[in-house]
Amino acid sequence: MTVQDTIKSLREKHGLSQDQLAERVMVTRQAVSRWETGETQPNTDTLQLLSKEFDVSINTLLGRPRQLICQCCGMPLSEDEVISKEPDGSFNEDFCKWCYADGKFAYKTKDSA
Ligand SMILES: [Zn+2]
Repeated sequence: MTVQDTIKSLREKHGLSQDQLAERVMVTRQAVSRWETGETQPNTDTLQLLSKEFDVSINTLLGRPRQLICQCCGMPLSEDEVISKEPDGSFNEDFCKWCYADGKFAYKTKDSA
């Protein structure tokens, strides 16, 4: 899926109008409309907000251009469910949820040096 399709389908899945989504991620309705027509893409800050709002990773929002791999154990992060999260609820797309959780590494492999 492309970014425009992803945003539109997530917005509709959450039952939000373009106006409502715009308000939640602090942009204008025109900006949302432009994303959904593919005219522009959300910037990095807005992608973060959309990621939290929809509870999907930024990679998923972008139409999965990257094959995410856990930098600790090497597991492919093919589903958002296995991606780790920061204590504030945002995704940490570098690690799986078993290696990294609540802002800490589960195993002393990466941060012990
Ligand atoms: Zn891992």
